[in-house]
Amino acid sequence: MTDCIFCRIARGEIPAKIVAQDDDLVAFHDLGPQAPVHVLVIPRKHIPTANDIGQEDGALLGRIWTRIPAIAAELGIASVGYRVVNNCLAPAGQSVFHLHFHLLGGRVMGWPPG
Ligand code: AMP
Repeated sequence: MTDCIFCRIARGEIPAKIVAQDDDLVAFHDLGPQAPVHVLVIPRKHIPTANDIGQEDGALLGRIWTRIPAIAAELGIASVGYRVVNNCLAPAGQSVFHLHFHLLGGRVMGWPPG
């Protein structure tokens, strides 16, 4: 999608502090970090919300989930623990409508989330 901010980051049109990228995904530091480590992992493909994940996206999502622990390891949080969050729709906290996974770590996490 042309004017989606995360599509624009994926295309390199606006700056981001990228920590990993490949043909499937881009991972970059969140502008408003909620933990010492707060990285967003996004598919390059524009999928608005988790509700829009289709059968055809299964392999892509599998590859992304295979990559997330490796990104956590590169960020130094794999062995101490981390949280992966997807907010689906505004009532759950979604503000950018391009599928993304928050990768959070570097502090103890509370539960339940707010
Ligand atoms: P969500 O509220 O779950 O949709 O998460 C969107 C996240 O994107 C928020 O944590 C924002 O801080 C983050 N964000 C928005 N714009 C940017 C940007 N240009 N670069 C990095 N992170 C961003």
